[in-house]
Amino acid sequence: PERTRVAPSPTGDPHVGTAYMALFDKAWARKTGGAFVLRIEDTDRNRLVAGSEQQIYDSLRWLGLEADESPETGGDFGPYKQSERLEVYRPFVDRLIEAGHAYHCWCSPERLAQMRAEQQASKQANTGYDRCCLGLTRDERAKLPGFTETPVVRMLVPDDVELTFTDLIRGEVHAPRPDDQVILKADGFPTYHLAVVVDDHLMGITTVVRGEEWISSTPKHRLLYRWLGWDEPAYAHMPLLRNTDKSKISKRKNPAARLLWFREQGYLPEALRNFLQLLAYPPASDDQEVASFDEFVADFDWAKVSTVGPIFDTKKLDWLNGHYIRSLSDDELADRIVEHALYSGRWQEATPERVALVRAATPLVAERLVTLSDALPKMDFLFTADDEVVYDPAAIAKLPEQAPRVVDVAVEALSGLGEWTQPAIEACLREALVDGLGLKPKFAFGPVRVGVTGALVSPPLFESLEVLGRDASLARLRRFRA
Ligand code: ATP
Ligand code: GLU
Repeated sequence: PERTRVAPSPTGDPHVGTAYMALFDKAWARKTGGAFVLRIEDTDRNRLVAGSEQQIYDSLRWLGLEADESPETGGDFGPYKQSERLEVYRPFVDRLIEAGHAYHCWCSPERLAQMRAEQQASKQANTGYDRCCLGLTRDERAKLPGFTETPVVRMLVPDDVELTFTDLIRGEVHAPRPDDQVILKADGFPTYHLAVVVDDHLMGITTVVRGEEWISSTPKHRLLYRWLGWDEPAYAHMPLLRNTDKSKISKRKNPAARLLWFREQGYLPEALRNFLQLLAYPPASDDQEVASFDEFVADFDWAKVSTVGPIFDTKKLDWLNGHYIRSLSDDELADRIVEHALYSGRWQEATPERVALVRAATPLVAERLVTLSDALPKMDFLFTADDEVVYDPAAIAKLPEQAPRVVDVAVEALSGLGEWTQPAIEACLREALVDGLGLKPKFAFGPVRVGVTGALVSPPLFESLEVLGRDASLARLRRFRA
């Protein structure tokens, strides 16, 4: 059984990349009968954003990618939040210093900036830390320029550091030589590099799944495992999601890099999950792009994961969303529409009357929906009071000359109709307008449609009249004529 984890930092709206990693993490844990862990990496106190952590939990749960162990649900390896583990890291730093694998560095930020500037000016090939503090005591170092009182701790990266490692997706990977990485900051907080290794080890993580931007950090992490005498996890570096120009998608440039964006737009979680899967995993065959999470798990194999940054093209998502929308029952879809109206703030409240209207109208609009947010605008005419229907001037302009007469005849015919159902309404209007007035259906029904909905484009007319009811339909048509 494999233990995997996703380790986001709560520094703003959750990134879609977090869900993408979580999907592959969870699939691998499920495939092997292991566990999927969510760890919050919140050691960079300056970048914390209030509410971000809760959004991570909520959006992963929405996607069906909730973790087996997390700060929210707990587990045997907690705490799962790095800010609650601060005392965990220090003893390992001390061990590394004692063994000569790490050293204190008292260089001031100004000195480091100056060092970098000089390295750049002289076009030095090796631009890492110059080890000014290595081998010095505090007092020895204090006599030299560019000293600060509170030191950081750096790794002493050996000359023969191993730069090649095996990746589950990429096979043999070569990374550049690392710098003497800071592992403990002046404020006593560990850096990502130390915390990730200590936590992955103590939490029993056996496979590390993360973005390819971490490949260059892996040799440092491997050194830490070796120095601390721990078994290493396996690594799977996922290809980053990219724009058509190959740049990586980012929250600053792409609204769709925000995980919450998809929910706001009215995408179904099952469609987004399927979309994220297809970005880096081939469908079983060309016509089998729709796959459930269980099917994905059953087929899962690291060797099939793509190494090339997938182009993040939401057209495929629109298609998948339409597919998933149409695979729901009318009632399920109505529930999702209501849920989305509340989530998006379009509705403050789901009153029984409103819910009943959505349930009645959902079958009329389901066929044409791309996202859930398309639904309510298509049903708008149902929620408008009869005397508040707004007639679209462009629609009015397109009506035939005899429109007033058409509406009068329709009112008369519908008033006498016994049973108010779609087939009865349709038969009645065809008889009165198409047969009776000798009009083409377009000219016969257009005026009725505008009279009832205000627009020339609406859900199917006869069904709409049925849902609207006899009284409302007739009231609207009479008002239209007035
Ligand atoms: P910004 O959008 O502000 O530029 P960012 O996009 O670089 O930030 P980070 O906050 O650095 O996002 O990363 C958050 C998480 O999302 C990281 O775990 C990272 O691996 C993942 N991530 C970032 N960009 C991508 C991407 N293009 N594809 C997949 N995952 C990504
Ligand atoms: N907190 C890191 C990030 O989001 C985790 C990287 C990792 O998975 O090792 O980006």
